Amino acid sequence: MLKPALFLDRDGTVIYDRGYARDPEGVELLPGAAEGLRELADRGWTFVIVSNQSGVGRGLITLEEMLAVQGRFESILAAHGVEFAASHLCVHSPDVDCDCRKPAPGSIFRAAADHGLDPARSWMIGDRESDIVCGRNAGCSTIWMRNADHPVEPTLPDHAADGWDDILRLVGNA
Ligand SMILES: [Mg+2]
Ligand SMILES: [Zn+2]
Repeated sequence: MLKPALFLDRDGTVIYDRGYARDPEGVELLPGAAEGLRELADRGWTFVIVSNQSGVGRGLITLEEMLAVQGRFESILAAHGVEFAASHLCVHSPDVDCDCRKPAPGSIFRAAADHGLDPARSWMIGDRESDIVCGRNAGCSTIWMRNADHPVEPTLPDHAADGWDDILRLVGNA
């Protein structure tokens, strides 16, 4: 039996977006994110991070720096009782024709195959248009975490949220 999941953008959705993040000390949860994810875990949801980290492919940060940030991210969430079934981090620059850089749906499909997840009963949640299009490309329902710096055509996402309280209202039980 395939399970539904929450596919989550990381930067600007769970933690503050620090650009091409290289400093683990800069990892800071957005308000309500840890509590919200903990609540959603209690409701039975499986979590998968789907993140574009092209700073690596662009040569702006090293793979080790990117992984150190991700490690700090995972340990902070683990301290809140939140674990991720997988984290798919695309390190390619946009000029590489990969299938894992959002809005391509490859990371969602790969995680779904690896972990027995059903994209059609899942959500993709993120703060940029590429997140919403990625979710749509994979057949997920979508929630745009509103971000004034990255406007999204209002009809594109299924829902918009102003924070984790809204996401908790929109997403029911797994
Ligand atoms: Mg983001
Ligand atoms: Zn990629």
